[in-house]
Amino acid sequence: MTPDFIKQALRNVRYPGFSRDIISFGLVKDVRCEPGSTQVDIEIQTKDPAIPEQIFKDCHAALDDLPDVGEVKINIDIKDAPDNSGAAAANTGKSSVPGIKKIIAVASGKGGVGKSTVASNLAISLAATGAKVGICDCDLYGPSIAMMFGSNERPTANEKEEIIPIEAHGLKLMSMGFLLEDRSPVIVRGPMATRYTQQFLRQVEWGELDYLILDLPPGTGDIQLTIVQTVAVDGVVIVTTPQEVALIDARKAVSMFAKVNVPIVGLIENMAWFECEHGTRYPLFGDGGGVREAESLNVPVLAQIPIEVPVREGGDGGKPIALSPASDSNASRAFHQAAEAVSKAIPL
Ligand code: ADP
Repeated sequence: MTPDFIKQALRNVRYPGFSRDIISFGLVKDVRCEPGSTQVDIEIQTKDPAIPEQIFKDCHAALDDLPDVGEVKINIDIKDAPDNSGAAAANTGKSSVPGIKKIIAVASGKGGVGKSTVASNLAISLAATGAKVGICDCDLYGPSIAMMFGSNERPTANEKEEIIPIEAHGLKLMSMGFLLEDRSPVIVRGPMATRYTQQFLRQVEWGELDYLILDLPPGTGDIQLTIVQTVAVDGVVIVTTPQEVALIDARKAVSMFAKVNVPIVGLIENMAWFECEHGTRYPLFGDGGGVREAESLNVPVLAQIPIEVPVREGGDGGKPIALSPASDSNASRAFHQAAEAVSKAIPL
């Protein structure tokens, strides 16, 4: 019996509630095969006692009946999940990711305001300045970055068990959705979000990147906090529309990130207006709400993005509008402006 053989067998043990196995999650720290006994050391970060219990049972089920294993001993070391409560915990335990110079999160208080559209176009515009850029879709409930980049490839792993990101339009691309077997939404609590994020950022073969853009899930809850507290995020871009309901949530987002000391790079007002072919601007969601909000919050406005059909078409068709020349589209121009402002605010 060899440790490799045991590890192979442990690939059948899934993390409860997820489609991935405990080996690819990196939970198995050591396997020792001696005559008459096999020992497996597992480390889990959770506050839920049912998780180690289930993994313990499943490991025994996977190993006990193998030939020549002898007595199987599963040692589980349970590490407490980080405590996310309060600003005191804010800056502890954050770590940078080797090879990545700057990490920028794109967030929104409210869903559907164009956060993923902004994240993808910002990433493309930053890449157009010559920077090496990666984008990571952290939205488990509605991962859409892969579609926006026209990719339905599934990533593979290298020999170090790191996930190799997909490449599209010159960017490296990872989506948490790639790890889900089906497309159904998953309940992810803080500890799991931490594990996912850590795995994403550490067990992905990102290589050398100037900027990694994190497309956060919408909202201002535990998951967003956990993610920005797990890694050293250099700044967050908040996306809103000019509409009051979106602004209220954008305000909450600004205050949440400020509380945990993540620098606010600025606000992007998306869907700022629609311009008809005669050049008249219609502020469909209200006029200048984002700009006024930014002023009152004392954060910069990075760009105002108009509503344009090609923005939506580009997103659905896997070719974000920022790939089009700025002269062809006001939205494309605005995204390039936003990238310029971001790269000034967060220089390499
Ligand atoms: P979120 O990530 O906030 O949920 P999305 O980026 O998925 O939002 O955008 C929601 C929808 O609105 C998508 O279909 C997208 O193509 C469209 N959309 C976003 N911004 C614009 C815009 N400026 N012009 C036209 N359509 C847009």
